[in-house]
Amino acid sequence: MISLKEIIYSLKENQAVLHYNVSSLEQIKAGIEAVKETKIPLIFGVSEGEREYLNSDLVKKIIDFYRENDNLEGLIFLNADHTKNFENAVRALEKGYDEILIDGSELNLEENIKITKKIIEFRDKSNKNCLIEGEVGFLPGKSEIQEKIEINEENLTNPDEALKFVEETKVDLLAISIGNVHGILPFVPKLDFERAKRIKELVKIPLVLHGASGLGIDNIKKCIDLGFKIIHINTEFRKIWKEKLREELEKETVTPYKIYPPIIQALKEKIIFYQKLFYSN
Ligand SMILES: [Zn+2]
Repeated sequence: MISLKEIIYSLKENQAVLHYNVSSLEQIKAGIEAVKETKIPLIFGVSEGEREYLNSDLVKKIIDFYRENDNLEGLIFLNADHTKNFENAVRALEKGYDEILIDGSELNLEENIKITKKIIEFRDKSNKNCLIEGEVGFLPGKSEIQEKIEINEENLTNPDEALKFVEETKVDLLAISIGNVHGILPFVPKLDFERAKRIKELVKIPLVLHGASGLGIDNIKKCIDLGFKIIHINTEFRKIWKEKLREELEKETVTPYKIYPPIIQALKEKIIFYQKLFYSN
């Protein structure tokens, strides 16, 4: 079985993998269809809210089903995105998730290190192949279309804190804050590339870019060149989902399996676009 760890560590210097959040079967189907076509790895992300809605065990079973049924071994993976609750992380580990993001970014550094370390210890005993991602620095916003947002300098990741965190926890991946936010804003946030470069030089592990919706191709490409290996795009896909759904609901039919396919198609096209952009260097 090819692990996500092997995929991430075998990426070339300017390659990255798309992380795509899901909370419905239609969104999952769009991702599956995309991967069947591109044969490029894709990480499905489910946040605590998405897991609560979908059921964290069921979504794992659905991904496993497609992995087997459509021969997608080594191509589709599941991440327990932004896990704040310890029990939720343990559950994801026990169920065999491929990755867990322990999000202690709202805690102070010591507390963040403590909870992340605890999960790493548990991982080493229970699910060795699972990648653990940590987060240092705070990312404002939620995965919605937002009018305004405050980006404070003190929320950005401090390079020395990032190094201390990585050295003490031994995380596999690190999410950082360089001016990126969750959600789409009316303007493109200004990214602190120098900070990212410095952090990468210090921590030497793959970085994860959250909040890439609305950043634009050039900014994302630059991040990939700096060592970001996983790119989270969520709100852009949610927006497509809603706009396309609204359009389809205007039609006469009341049959779900006739309403959903154009939505799945629209999502699939965008997934393929980003997959190719990030991976085909
Ligand atoms: Zn995120």
